[in-house]
Amino acid sequence: MKDNPTVVWLEDVRIEDVPSVGGKGASLGEMISAEIPVPRGFAVTAQAFRRFLDETGIASQLFATLRVNVDDAKELEAVAASAKKLVLKTKMPQHMRSDIVSAYNELAKREGGEPLVAVRSSATAEDMPEASFAGQQETFLNVRGANDVVVAVQKCWASLYGARAIFYRVKQGFEHESVNISAVVQKMVNADRSGVMFTCNPTTGAPEAIIEGSWGLGEAIVSGSVSPDTYLIDRKTRQIKANVASKTIMVVKDQKTGATITKDVPADLQNKRVLSDAELYTILDLGELIEEHYDSPQDIEWAIEKGAVYIVQSRPVTTIRKRDAAKQTSTAGEPEKLLEGLGASPGQASGEVKIIRSVDELDRVLDGDILVTAMTSPDMVPAMQRAAAIVTDEGGLTSHAAIVSRELGVPAVVGTKEATKKLTDGMLITVDGERGLIFSGRLERAEAAAPAAGMVTVSAAKPITATEVKVNVSIAQATERAVATGADGVGLLRVEHMILGMGKHPHWYIEHNEKDAFINELEKGIRTVVAAFFPRPVWVRTMDAPTDEFRQMEGGEDEPIEPNPMLGWRGIRRDLREVDVFKMQLQTFKNLIDDGYTNIGIMLPLVQHQDEVQAAKEKIAEIGIDFEKVDVGIMIEIPASALIIEDLIAEGIDFVSFGTNDLTQYTLAVDRNNENVAALYNEQHPAVLKLIDYVIQCCNRAGVVTSICGQAGSNPKMAEKLVRMGISSISSNIDAVERVREAVARTEMRIILEASRDLTNED
Ligand code: PEP
Ligand code: MG
Repeated sequence: MKDNPTVVWLEDVRIEDVPSVGGKGASLGEMISAEIPVPRGFAVTAQAFRRFLDETGIASQLFATLRVNVDDAKELEAVAASAKKLVLKTKMPQHMRSDIVSAYNELAKREGGEPLVAVRSSATAEDMPEASFAGQQETFLNVRGANDVVVAVQKCWASLYGARAIFYRVKQGFEHESVNISAVVQKMVNADRSGVMFTCNPTTGAPEAIIEGSWGLGEAIVSGSVSPDTYLIDRKTRQIKANVASKTIMVVKDQKTGATITKDVPADLQNKRVLSDAELYTILDLGELIEEHYDSPQDIEWAIEKGAVYIVQSRPVTTIRKRDAAKQTSTAGEPEKLLEGLGASPGQASGEVKIIRSVDELDRVLDGDILVTAMTSPDMVPAMQRAAAIVTDEGGLTSHAAIVSRELGVPAVVGTKEATKKLTDGMLITVDGERGLIFSGRLERAEAAAPAAGMVTVSAAKPITATEVKVNVSIAQATERAVATGADGVGLLRVEHMILGMGKHPHWYIEHNEKDAFINELEKGIRTVVAAFFPRPVWVRTMDAPTDEFRQMEGGEDEPIEPNPMLGWRGIRRDLREVDVFKMQLQTFKNLIDDGYTNIGIMLPLVQHQDEVQAAKEKIAEIGIDFEKVDVGIMIEIPASALIIEDLIAEGIDFVSFGTNDLTQYTLAVDRNNENVAALYNEQHPAVLKLIDYVIQCCNRAGVVTSICGQAGSNPKMAEKLVRMGISSISSNIDAVERVREAVARTEMRIILEASRDLTNED
C-alpha cells in the first residue's frame, strides 16, 4: 500500500492494515484474499481523517471542545452536538474529496450503474489497534452517488464524537486525539435473507455451527427485534437441526425512497424456513474457509441476494455473550431484581432468555441460554442440559424442574408465577438458584451467595458414617455426578422420569406389540445407574407419575382427567390394576438381576394398605424374581401407611423409605406443587416428624431398614433429627450429599459424646 493514501481498495487490504482501515476493513480485505464472496468496495483511511482535521485546522478547536465532565449528561450532549457540527460543517479538502469521488466512480464502473453502497464506520486506536469501539459509530445504508458518499463519509467521521462514543473513551482511558476513524464504502447487498453464523458452539467450543436467519436485511437479527430461524449443524456428521421461528417483521429497502424500513413479513413467509439445506451448507462451507484462514472460530454476518451468498462481516468468536452485552445497554448500571421464586437448584448463571411455550420450540434453547417455561416435562431434559439455568412459573421444590435441575447441576428458580410473562425472549438475565432470585443483566458471581453451577464438592477426607448417606437419581444423565458424590448407594431411582422421557405412553408399547422395545429402553437407563454403583445398593422404584403427566405423551390421550391427580391414579394402586405395565417394569428388573446386578432393590410407591404389598409381591414372584437375590421395600408417603406400619412389616418387607414430599402434602393437606400454599409446606411439621419417628421405632424393633428419599433428606437439620431417631440411611440430592454427610457425622459424634457425658454424670 502506498504511504498514507486517502482511499484503499478492500482487495489490497490485509490484517496489518488495521491502523489504517480498522478491524472491520482489514477483515474484509483478508476475506477477499481468501476468495470469500465479500461485497466489493474501498476504505477511506484513518490517516485521511487525521489529515482532514489537520489540513482544515480544526483539530485543536475540536479537542479543546471535548474536555468535558462526561458524567454531566447535559453538558456531554451539548459538547457532542457542537463537535459533530464542527466536523460536518468543515469543508473536506478538495484532493480528498476527489479521491473518494474517483473511487466511487471506479466502483460504479466495476459493478455497473450507480451502485447503492453501505458506508460503515470503523474506529481504531493508534496505540491499541485491537481496541474495539464496535457499535459506537454510525453506518449509513443505501447511499447512492459520489456526492452522497462523500457526505456519508463525513457523517461517519462526525459520529466519532457522539455522546456515547465520547463517554466510552473517557471511561476507558483513551485519549480522544489517539482514536481515529476509517469509513468502509462497500457495495450494498440488497438481501432478501440474512443472518449470522457461529462456526462453532461459542460456549462449549464444540464443532457445531449455529446459523440464524430471517427475511430481509440483517438489521432485524442484529438488533434482536426478530426471533430468527435457528439451524444447528453438526460439523462432523453434517446433520442439520432446524428450528423454524415465527418471523413477523423484516427490514427492507423501500423501493421508492431507497430508505431502509421495517415492515411486516408476508403471511405465507412468516413460518416458512428461511434457508434450504443446500444454502446452509454453502454458508457453512464459507464459514469453515474463513475459520481456516484465521485459524480460529468465527462470528459471521451473511446475506443472500437473488440466490448469491455474501459474507458481510467476520470476527473471531470471543463469546456468544458479546452480542447480548450490546443489546443490554438499557439495563447497564445497578442490577434490577426482576422476579422471585423458590431457589430449587443452587448456582448462579447469566444468559439469554428463551421462553418455551411448547416442546416443539426446544431447539431454540442453545448452550448457555436460560430456559424459561411454565413447567418442565421429561421431554425437555436435553434442552435443560444445554441451559445455563432454568426458570419456571409453576412448581415447588419437588417438581420436575427442581428435581432434574438439581441432578443436572443446572441452577434453577421455580414457582416465580410470572416468568413467562415478565421476561422476554433475548433478554439477558442472571439466575441465582440459591436465593431464588432473577436479576436483569449479567451479574458477577457473589462468592458467598452462590456456588458455581454444576459444582459437586467432595471433601478431601470423606467421613465414615454409621448412618449410610445415599443419593437420589431420576435420569441416567445424572449418573456420573451422582457417583462422584461418593454416596453409599442410590436411595431412590425414579423410573417414571425415564419412562416419561421415552416420549411414548407405556400403553402405546403394549398396543403396538412393542413391549420388548419398552423393556429394552428402560433397561438401558436403569443399567447405567446400577452398573455405575455396583455393588452399592440401588433402590429402583416402580412407576409413580400422575395422570396429567402421562396425558402429554404420545398414546396418552386416553388418560382419565382427574379432579386431583395427586390423590388419584398413580403409584402402586395403578400398577396393580394395569398389570401389563407393572409386569414390563418387573421384567426389566429381572433381566438386570439375571445379568448379575444383585444390588437392585425394588421399591413400591404410594403404598396405602398391606394388601397392596401382598399383591405386588405375588407379581414379583410370578415374573420369576428370586426374593433371595433382591430386597423389596415400600415408600412411606401416606399417613395411613405410617400408622399401619406394623401390618406392612408383617407382609414381609426388607426396607422402608420416607417419601416426605408426599407424606408432608398428605399430612398437612398442602399441594406440594402449588406455589400459593408453599409457605405452609413444612416437612418438619411436628405431625410429619411424629409419623416418621413412629415408623422408625417400629422398623428398628422388627429389623427393617429405614431410609428417606424425599427432599427433606437433603436438609442437614432434618438429617440430624433423623439420625437421632435412629434412621438407617439418608438419601439426598446430588448437590446435598456432602453437607448431609457432614451433618450425619457430626450428629453421630455428638450422640456418642452425650452418651459418654451421661455415663460420667451417673458415676
Ligand atoms: C416423595 O414423595 O417424597 C418422593 C420421594 O417421591 P416423589 O417425589 O417422586 O413423589
Ligand atoms: Mg412420592
